[in-house]
Amino acid sequence: MVKSIYRPTKITIDTRAIRKNLRTVSQRISKNQALFAVVKANGYGHGAVQIAKIAEDEGVDGFCVATIDEGIELREAGITLPILVLGLVEVSTLPVVSEYQLSIPVATTEWLDLAIQEYQRNPWKQPVAVHVALDTGMGRIGFLTSAELHHAYQRLQAPAFLFEGIFTHFATADQADTSYWLEQKEKFFAMIETLPEQPRYVHVTNSATLIWHEPLGNMVRYGVAMYGLNPSSDALDPAYPLVPALSLSSKLMQVKKLPVGSGVGYGHTYETTADEWIGTIPIGYADGYVRKLQGFHVLIEGEFCKIVGRVCMDQLMVRLPHEMPVGTRVTLVGVDGQNQITLQDMASYIGTIHYEVACLFSERVPRVYE
Ligand SMILES: *Cc1c(COP(=O)(O)O)cnc(C)c1O
Repeated sequence: MVKSIYRPTKITIDTRAIRKNLRTVSQRISKNQALFAVVKANGYGHGAVQIAKIAEDEGVDGFCVATIDEGIELREAGITLPILVLGLVEVSTLPVVSEYQLSIPVATTEWLDLAIQEYQRNPWKQPVAVHVALDTGMGRIGFLTSAELHHAYQRLQAPAFLFEGIFTHFATADQADTSYWLEQKEKFFAMIETLPEQPRYVHVTNSATLIWHEPLGNMVRYGVAMYGLNPSSDALDPAYPLVPALSLSSKLMQVKKLPVGSGVGYGHTYETTADEWIGTIPIGYADGYVRKLQGFHVLIEGEFCKIVGRVCMDQLMVRLPHEMPVGTRVTLVGVDGQNQITLQDMASYIGTIHYEVACLFSERVPRVYE
């Protein structure tokens, strides 16, 4: 999808907010802890390369991404710091992983055996740095038992690899009840103690663990809180202030008075109950502004205006309190006057989490950095 720069719809990223959130976290971790900024999924919709450049400038020690391609995007933008891919990769991609000096997770001995066979046939130039994933209760990726971990450790002595890290991921770090989190933590540290040596990076700490638990391990994988978003949505209050960085704005492109009884939008799901001022805004579900947001609101001249009728692919309509000029600024996420719409407000309205709302914003919406 082409980035549409001749349309007034845009996402604005407040770079000072990102910097502030990074300085806050830097003060909370110890000197021996490496800070890895998580910029997967286009930096949670904020723009991976731009956020990575800011984080690099703020002195982070590395980055986490979800896929090899996301890692390559950073390398091609000139990022030389360590990059850890968080998702599992196919053995056939290892020459590329080696070429771009990406670190990857491993989760099974079968995969390691296949990779060793592949290396014997067709060796890659630099050993691939691997982080052993332990599944301590997330049920997603990783070794389940110490016995499996030991088999993996033996295979990691092969010249194909460099054993660089070991990690797990918590399923409930953002919940008030800490019992499952504690179980996972204990399981992890008990498992790694049985290894003959520890790799350079031992890591379990995501945003929620840092905010509500303890900064465990010697590397932190800091994602959502860097963008100023509360990892628990609104279930728990953050222990320190987070500054949201993303706002979304547009302009009114048409303003008209529709007589009482007029239909608005596909399916005729809304009908004016009086003569109403209706404004049209150039954003729709193809921009990630999903159809479920029908009935939600935007901010215009500091006032909430309801979205009426169905959200279309590229446009939506709102009810205005009075006539307004074409070109009037519309705030879909952000502050206008006394009022504010947050990503969390949108997420609550459609029954999801702000992580999902932020990374749904499509490539069509330009990101500008201020
Ligand atoms: C996404 C992710 C993170 C970052 O989580 P936040 O809640 O955004 O801090 C850390 N570790 C892994 C394995 C992840 O997938």
